[in-house]
Amino acid sequence: MKALVYHGPGEKVWEDVPDPRIEHPTDVVVQVDTTTICGTDLHILKGDVPSVQPGRILGHEAVGTITEVGSAVSTLAVGDRVIVSCIKSCGKCMFCKKGVYAHCLGDEGASGIGWVFGHLIDGTQAEYVRVPYAENSVYRVPDGVTDEQAVMLSDILPTGFEIGVQYGRVKPGDVVAIVGVGPVGLAATMTAGLYGPSRIIALDPDANRRNTAIAFGASDAVDPREADWKEQVLALTDGWGVDVAIEAVGVPATFRMCTDIVRPGGTVANIGVHGRPVELPIQDLWIHNISISMGLVNTNTTEMLLKLVAQGRLASEKFATHRFSLDNMIEAYDVFGRAAETKALKVVITR
Ligand SMILES: [Zn+2]
Ligand SMILES: [Zn+2]
Repeated sequence: MKALVYHGPGEKVWEDVPDPRIEHPTDVVVQVDTTTICGTDLHILKGDVPSVQPGRILGHEAVGTITEVGSAVSTLAVGDRVIVSCIKSCGKCMFCKKGVYAHCLGDEGASGIGWVFGHLIDGTQAEYVRVPYAENSVYRVPDGVTDEQAVMLSDILPTGFEIGVQYGRVKPGDVVAIVGVGPVGLAATMTAGLYGPSRIIALDPDANRRNTAIAFGASDAVDPREADWKEQVLALTDGWGVDVAIEAVGVPATFRMCTDIVRPGGTVANIGVHGRPVELPIQDLWIHNISISMGLVNTNTTEMLLKLVAQGRLASEKFATHRFSLDNMIEAYDVFGRAAETKALKVVITR
């Protein structure tokens, strides 16, 4: 089969590799019908994730059709159309039993880390992928939900919802600020609406992304490059700041923006993937009763979100901006890598 193989920083090739096969009785093999590219894949290609070894097939998001099932798999069958979740889940370990799949102790890839596809085991940017712990790691796609809608449930929608909205404890009437409205910030914008906040304020220097955030459910948008950006945000609250500030960029400056605008008693929910330390002004924050949360997605809400997509309550298809075939994987990377210019959110890649 063909797959996108990582050959060290800056090097990727769409090339022939051996077909995946069942390695453990709990595996399935899935024919990839639709996949996409994540910001994390770009980080890997920059060399920011050294645990990804050359030779690895990249990608952790896919929708496909099961072509082979292991001998211990009884609830899935060949021909089933499924979402491949970005997080493995053995379903048996201490963390899985608590719904903290992000730290599944199953030894596939490495024990204690749920994100293994395109990281520690071969991923989904390929014609076929082996999925471990399949009964607990894939979700059947109901009729009426398209691949394009479903692939947004592999990673971005659960990530924005669980780590931004749920960890941020968004409540009815809250004022929510989302700092950075790339795909994951937009996923938080879209799913924050499920809890009935009074305002959702999108902050992003990119005018196109600010406009997109409004189309995804934000009530207001602020350009953080403007000198009075903070006053603009506070003016949209009762003057005391936002109830929930969601960080979806992953650099010190944007985390600091969140601690600058959160009100006493509020929450800062960090989704951003940080590569260096952040200075925390705890000398000011401690007396403000601020909660700070962060984490890797558990994907334990995938089934619920899928139900909302199926019922037309979440328009996940809105993330898809560009379409490619698997053979044009390199071109898809190029367009996604130049997102500011191409206005790409999610590139949908189909067989
Ligand atoms: Zn991802
Ligand atoms: Zn587990």
